Amino acid sequence: MTSTTPAQALAELYAGNRRFVTGVPRHPNQDAGHRAAVADGQHPFAVIVGCSDSRLAAEIIFDRGLGDLFVVRTAGHTVGPEVLGSVEYAITVLGVPLVLVLGHDSCGAVQAAREAVATGTSPAGHLGAVVEAVVPSLRRAARQGIEDVDGIVDIHIGQTVEALLARSAVLAERVSAGRCGVVGMSYRLSAGEVRTVAEVPAGTPTAAVVDRAASMDPPVRGDRG
Ligand SMILES: [Zn+2]
Repeated sequence: MTSTTPAQALAELYAGNRRFVTGVPRHPNQDAGHRAAVADGQHPFAVIVGCSDSRLAAEIIFDRGLGDLFVVRTAGHTVGPEVLGSVEYAITVLGVPLVLVLGHDSCGAVQAAREAVATGTSPAGHLGAVVEAVVPSLRRAARQGIEDVDGIVDIHIGQTVEALLARSAVLAERVSAGRCGVVGMSYRLSAGEVRTVAEVPAGTPTAAVVDRAASMDPPVRGDRG
């Protein structure tokens, strides 16, 4: 796909997810001919920053194939420097027009963070870093009176969208310039369906989004799980 717009990329993702949900996937771009065709270069139309959950396989749930999606996955779609670098590579070197943050209901990373906050403990090893990255979303949800896991997941997806824009000046500049859009979607494990929960369309002045993200971290009322 060449010179895809952010809106076209989003439409492609929704169309593929609809095929997957309704049980009529086409499995495009998965044959030997296409494999050979893309061996010399890739032109993916979306970057996905998704949760690592084994049930959230991007090419399957969006019914795509080789060379279509540039996928970065971490538990709870937490965003560290290597994730940011991967996104920046995709949008600058590969010219990808859309960044999608993909979370899902019953997310284990969000549940682990709730547990940690509720018990005042942090998991051993590097899992602590995942939990710490999710805690600001718990605080934000608490400020809004949201306590169910799936409601918190939606907040965390929105927070991840904002974190990408706040921490990557390269992405923010591309979005402001109208060359890239950012969308957050939540996936339902049982239905297989995505829905948009956050959106920063191409052309949005990102300063406002970034300011909001930066002012979001003051400590809030207690540690309500
Ligand atoms: Zn998850």
